[in-house]
Amino acid sequence: MTDATILLVEDEQNIASLVELYLKNDGYTVEHVGNGLSALAAAERLKPSLVILDVMLPGMDGLEVCRRLRATGKIPIIMLTARDGEVDRVLGLELGADDYVTKPFSPRELVARVKAVLRRAEPGDASPEDDERLALGPVRIDGARREVLVGEQPVELTAREFELLAFLVRNRGIVFSRDRLLERVWGYERPVDTRTVDSHVKSVRQKLGEGGSIIKTLRGVGYKADA
Ligand code: CA
Repeated sequence: MTDATILLVEDEQNIASLVELYLKNDGYTVEHVGNGLSALAAAERLKPSLVILDVMLPGMDGLEVCRRLRATGKIPIIMLTARDGEVDRVLGLELGADDYVTKPFSPRELVARVKAVLRRAEPGDASPEDDERLALGPVRIDGARREVLVGEQPVELTAREFELLAFLVRNRGIVFSRDRLLERVWGYERPVDTRTVDSHVKSVRQKLGEGGSIIKTLRGVGYKADA
C-alpha cells in the first residue's frame, strides 16, 4: 500500500474509470479531472506525487499542461499519447515528461510505469542495494562486490560509471534524458553540461566491449538499457 496521490487528467470517461480502478486497487489515492485548466488547478491544490496526463484534451492540450507544470516544478509526469510520433517531443527537452504510454494501453502496464516513475523520483535511488544483483544480456552486476562482468570477464569501471550502468540496467527499457540522468545518477539539481553524460556512456560502452550494446542511444531523447 502507498499514500501517494495521483492526478489523472483524461477526458475519456471510460478510460479514466478503468485507470482509476486499477490505481485504487494498488492503494493509490486518485483525483480525476477532464481538462487542462482543471488539471493545473488540481496540481496546485493537491501537490500530487505524480500526474498521468492525456495529450488530447479539450481546450488546452496535454502538451501545454505538461509545459506549464514543468515551468513550476519537478512533479513526475506520465503522458498518454495516441501516436508514437509524439514520443520524441513528449520525452525530449522541450517538454521533459518522465515517461509515456501509447494508447491503447493495458491499465496493468500503466500501473507498472507509475510504480517505476515514483521509485525513480525517490532520492538516493542511484546507488545499488548492497546485495543487489542485476543482469542484462551478457552483462552482470554484483552490488555487494561492486563488480561488473561481461560473460566471465571482469570490467573495471569508475564509481560513477558503475552507478550509471547499474541505474540504467535496474530501470531497463525506460528512456532517460541526459538531464534526468544527471539528476538521478549525479544528483545535480540544476542543469550542468549534459556532455558529461555522453562521455560517461561512451566510456562505459567501450569498457563493456561486446556488452556495450545494451546501452541504446535514442537520438534527441537520451539513453536506455535494453537487451
Ligand atoms: Ca483524450
